[in-house]
Amino acid sequence: MDLKLKDKVVIVTGGARGIGAGISELFAAEGATVVVASRSSPEALDFMKQLSTKTKTLFIDGELGPTAAAEKVVNETLKAFGRIDVLVNNAGVNDGASLEAGPEAFRASLQKNIFHVYDLLHFALPALKASKGNIVNISSKVAETGQGGTSGYAASKGAMNALTREWALDLAKYSIRVNTVSPAEVMTPLYEKWLKTLDNPQAMVAKIEKMIPFEHRMTTLHELGAMVVFLASEVSSHTTGQIIYPDGGYTHLDRKCTVE
Ligand code: NAP
Repeated sequence: MDLKLKDKVVIVTGGARGIGAGISELFAAEGATVVVASRSSPEALDFMKQLSTKTKTLFIDGELGPTAAAEKVVNETLKAFGRIDVLVNNAGVNDGASLEAGPEAFRASLQKNIFHVYDLLHFALPALKASKGNIVNISSKVAETGQGGTSGYAASKGAMNALTREWALDLAKYSIRVNTVSPAEVMTPLYEKWLKTLDNPQAMVAKIEKMIPFEHRMTTLHELGAMVVFLASEVSSHTTGQIIYPDGGYTHLDRKCTVE
């Protein structure tokens, strides 16, 4: 199947680590030009170095959140490649901004998790209208299940799911599609950081895997990335306003039927 992504210009926020890196790899494998907007780190730069051996790339360093950062991402992408075909809003963090943490922590969490999603699309819109491009957001099961202790993240991912429908309607008249991929349990640097805060990380992984109905395992980076690339491609040309759950059934299936 030809996904017709060759030479398409794709922006992946947080695209040099974890789920974002998996997404960048698969777009690169399809011959797309990959622009990663993310915080810099030795690991991220190593990843970009190896990605640049496979396709055209650009790394735009910076903290996403302030409006100026989103404008910079769009301007630098257009300066380098003259077009934008796909925007993947992947950068985000489950930062535990709880009810007790207070209003400032809540606002800071929204800034890290959802403000840049709006800002990026706002600034990229003229380019996306010209290319009839599309947007793929990376949400979380927390938007629907809750988790406890993470109001900012839950609000941000809930907003992302709502905006998927809102923007799909807004942008249908320009033939711009908007979809969301919602992961549940994927082993990434962020996930490993959380596990390290626990007394017995291995026991927690085993407990979680037991509750994932399909094959009692986490979703791989490849499985997540493949769904994103499929949605972003012309093969999905009539799919818009959808929230897709590549999560082994974790979010929606009745776990009492699958946990032994
Ligand atoms: P990750 O391992 O931390 O990778 C995310 C990358 O994005 C990191 O390089 C991070 O930089 C960067 N980043 C995050 N926020 C940023 C910001 N405001 N500005 C600039 N760069 C930023 O995370 P992940 O687990 O792959 O998660 C990716 C997405 O999937 C997130 O939106 C997350 O909420 C969602 N998700 C993940 C899971 C899971 O099981 N892993 C489940 C549900 C949803 P640093 O390296 O400097 O931190």
